[in-house]
Amino acid sequence: MTEKFTGSFTQQEPIPQAGIDAALAVMNHGRLHRYNTQGDEIAETALLEEEFAAATGSKYCLAVASGGYAMTTALRACGVGHGDTVLTNAFTLAPVPGAIAAVGATPIYVGVTEDLVIDLDDLADKITQSKVLLLSHMRGHICDMEALMALCDNAGVTVIEDCAHTMGATWNGTPSGRWGKFGCYSTQTYKHMNSGEGGLLISDDAEGMARAIMLSGSYMLFERHRAAPPVETFKQIKYETPNISGRMDNLRAAILRPQLADLQTQCDRWNALYREVETGLTETPGLHVPPRPEKEGYVASSFQFLLLDWPSEAVQDVIARCLARGVELKWFGGAEPTGFTSRYDSWRYAPSERMPDSDRILAGIIDMRLPLTFTTEDCTLIARIIRAEVSAVYQAQVA
Ligand SMILES: *Cc1c(COP(=O)(O)O)cnc(C)c1O
Repeated sequence: MTEKFTGSFTQQEPIPQAGIDAALAVMNHGRLHRYNTQGDEIAETALLEEEFAAATGSKYCLAVASGGYAMTTALRACGVGHGDTVLTNAFTLAPVPGAIAAVGATPIYVGVTEDLVIDLDDLADKITQSKVLLLSHMRGHICDMEALMALCDNAGVTVIEDCAHTMGATWNGTPSGRWGKFGCYSTQTYKHMNSGEGGLLISDDAEGMARAIMLSGSYMLFERHRAAPPVETFKQIKYETPNISGRMDNLRAAILRPQLADLQTQCDRWNALYREVETGLTETPGLHVPPRPEKEGYVASSFQFLLLDWPSEAVQDVIARCLARGVELKWFGGAEPTGFTSRYDSWRYAPSERMPDSDRILAGIIDMRLPLTFTTEDCTLIARIIRAEVSAVYQAQVA
């Protein structure tokens, strides 16, 4: 009898009871807008910002409507606009080049390595082509941040980090999001905290954060922010900065605060699931699992492996065989972009020359979610299924 997995790869955990209770309290009093407070009440949104700043060690934090909005706001706050170029990863998700396009700029894609991080040699080759790098820690893989920052600092390139997949993660002990001028996070359902939609932006840069707060639509009520730069910082900025509304509301913030308190526990749980799959796939012929560097404090809410240099029919065969056994894999090498797996060549509004080295990697990337509704036993079974199907197809190829 062939074993089948019956769990759902898209089912997250429920909102913790404390979050449900806090959300009900907000709905009961009706003051959902972040600036709608009574007496000396402090809005849930302002408290979330304060707590997230403390959790990451940043001076300032702004809660916004989405991760994509956090990125466009960071770009705007860095002065990126029409006609500018922005360096970014060729291996990332659509909201990243989308954020660059949203401010009228053009992405310049930087390649991906076999370890699924940005290719620092390719970055060095292209570094003079822009003043800003929107660095995506795609699927939670963090590059050598000391080397990246040295390269960018030397070239006078400002770094904005897309931490949609690295909330809670670190490099050499420093949180992801604390290396660049801005760190951008998403609290969309599939990320590390779930408010349906939502985003967070952190920075130590007073002027940059003042601009971001004005941009988000603060109606001159910036004094109500707690994790914000001093009021004097807004003196000129308040006249110069357009309101491009994208605030977070108190309902979402209420849902998120208890999740932030649990974040470390959740990260540990994700990593336990990840290690279970990793162990189960050890030394599977034809299958490469990117090694995780010593300095990387990863949070692996998803799993990637490579079927490098496999013919695409064989990869498709593996995906179909795993799916028949209940294991849902995503492939970054498909001819057409489907659910969450578009590639740089799918973003035709921002065309690029072919990147043969990256194409080779992208063609081999297999991606799988690891929701916390899975148990470690589920992950053992999932790994057993992948191992069996990859081995079967691999042996047929070699034969
Ligand atoms: C989800 C995601 C974002 C932001 O997404 P929103 O849906 O706008 O919150 C940014 N970058 C990556 C890599 C993502 O996966």
